[in-house]
Amino acid sequence: MMKKTSLPLALTMLLLLNSIPLQASSAGPGVSADEAMQQLKEGNARYAAGAPTHPNCTQDRRRATTTEGQHPYVTILSCSDSRVPVEILFDKGLGEIFVVRVAGNVVDTDEAGSIEYGVDHLATPLMVVLGHTRCGAVTAVAQNAAVHGNIPRLVDNIKPAVAAAKAKHPDLAGEPLVEEAVKANIWQAISDLLRTSEVTRERVKDGRLKVVGALYDIDSGKVEWLGSHPDQDQLLKKYSVEGSKPHHKAKTKK
Ligand SMILES: [Zn+2]
Repeated sequence: MMKKTSLPLALTMLLLLNSIPLQASSAGPGVSADEAMQQLKEGNARYAAGAPTHPNCTQDRRRATTTEGQHPYVTILSCSDSRVPVEILFDKGLGEIFVVRVAGNVVDTDEAGSIEYGVDHLATPLMVVLGHTRCGAVTAVAQNAAVHGNIPRLVDNIKPAVAAAKAKHPDLAGEPLVEEAVKANIWQAISDLLRTSEVTRERVKDGRLKVVGALYDIDSGKVEWLGSHPDQDQLLKKYSVEGSKPHHKAKTKK
């Protein structure tokens, strides 16, 4: 029952709500994973056809996302490769995609934490690991190229994917092997995410989050959608029993 005295309370609540920083919302963007994927498919089709509309790049959009906060509907992990600019290839603008980029689109400690900002803190219903053709990082591992500095610890994450691709396709070498390794590396990143991120596992299990792989062709500009990890159910069970283990490099990271 509404009382007259509830008005000041409502006003107080309203003032309080307006004072809360709106940089994040656990309520999420209010679209389903399938709707989010459809948005990406339509944007990529425009881009690949050479007819992008560059939505949500205006000053008004910048002001709105500043004052109202960000409500991205997808978290995307992609490679740092300069030919894989995520917002451009999906024809998207400000406040739409929570992007994590790292050479070889690997999931190590910092990447898993960044992804958790997107899928948990900002509650995006969709998470995409976006690999790409002719990936230099994957090629370096496939060809056993000499790497220096911090790169060996980075490409460590790609080695299991190349080994899996070689085991599955022992006859392949060169570019065809790299193509298979790029796909295996997408599944490797998803597996590493499910292994190290309990909150991601929980959200996938209860249907709040869909995690899918996708492959960007740098020649055609088209994204091929690969779906969920083929062994997702088994991985969820396995890693839930084992519990989240810090990444193998966490011990040495200072
Ligand atoms: Zn790459």
